[in-house]
Amino acid sequence: TSGPLAGRVAVVTGASSGIGAAVATRLAADGAKVALLARRADRLAALAATITEAGGVALPVAVDVTDADQVDAAAATVAEELGRVDLVVNNAGVMLPALIDRGRTDEWQRMIDLNVTGVLRVVRAFVPALLATAEAGERADLVNISSVSADVVFPGYAVYGATKAAVTQLSAGLRAELGVRGVRVTNVEPGMIDSELREHVSDPEARAGLREFAEAVPSLPAADLADVLAFLASRPGRVNVPDLRIMPTWQV
Ligand code: NDP
Repeated sequence: TSGPLAGRVAVVTGASSGIGAAVATRLAADGAKVALLARRADRLAALAATITEAGGVALPVAVDVTDADQVDAAAATVAEELGRVDLVVNNAGVMLPALIDRGRTDEWQRMIDLNVTGVLRVVRAFVPALLATAEAGERADLVNISSVSADVVFPGYAVYGATKAAVTQLSAGLRAELGVRGVRVTNVEPGMIDSELREHVSDPEARAGLREFAEAVPSLPAADLADVLAFLASRPGRVNVPDLRIMPTWQV
């Protein structure tokens, strides 16, 4: 394959829909070999086929990011099939808003386990490869997908916002450790992006609020975010954008 990311090996979690699918598609179009990680194997197989038909290289790996053993096994599979990973997009996440007095401890736990601990499991599994890449003098990227909800508060989003604030803070801490060793860490805080994120919301009031907001503020296609991430990855290794906020022009 050719293109600005030729020779690179990427891993994208949450690649079966939304932002992850768009990012994987773009990285592959730009020449990277891409491992597609998520639970829905059928979706991953379909996306891998689309990427392959377009001349790219994609490896679907069905994995539940809430299971450390599965994440470690996925890392081994990717290394064996595609080689040493040098670009990780930590994207799998879930948003389950509801007012705090609904007491949805199950949903709080799901968000914490995927959005925070899931990101950590992926970091643990792939950072050694990123460090080895950097030590070899090549570009190594860790991209964590946080959210504007890390900084902007909305009623019903206290727990989701807390998980994303954790991701933003984690990115800053990781950058302090890994940047000096040559790994670029980028924390991304997207605003409204078209995806399946909203479809998982169970609380009727939160669903209605989101629908109303989405009608007032048209979302960005996920490909617009993928475009910016592909650009950043293609910069020389000395250039790091630590924080990226990206949202529709008309979103306040
Ligand atoms: P989607 O719901 O479309 O995508 C979420 C992805 O995460 C899916 O591919 C899903 O795949 C995967 N996933 C969910 N649970 C697991 C799991 N246990 N193990 C592995 N993969 C899992 O939403 P988005 O594309 O919008 O979300 C991507 C990220 O972007 C999230 O972190 C979200 O918080 C963040 N974000 C999104 C914004 C938006 O407006 N869309 C705004 C700000 C941040 P599967 O079900 O197959 O496992």
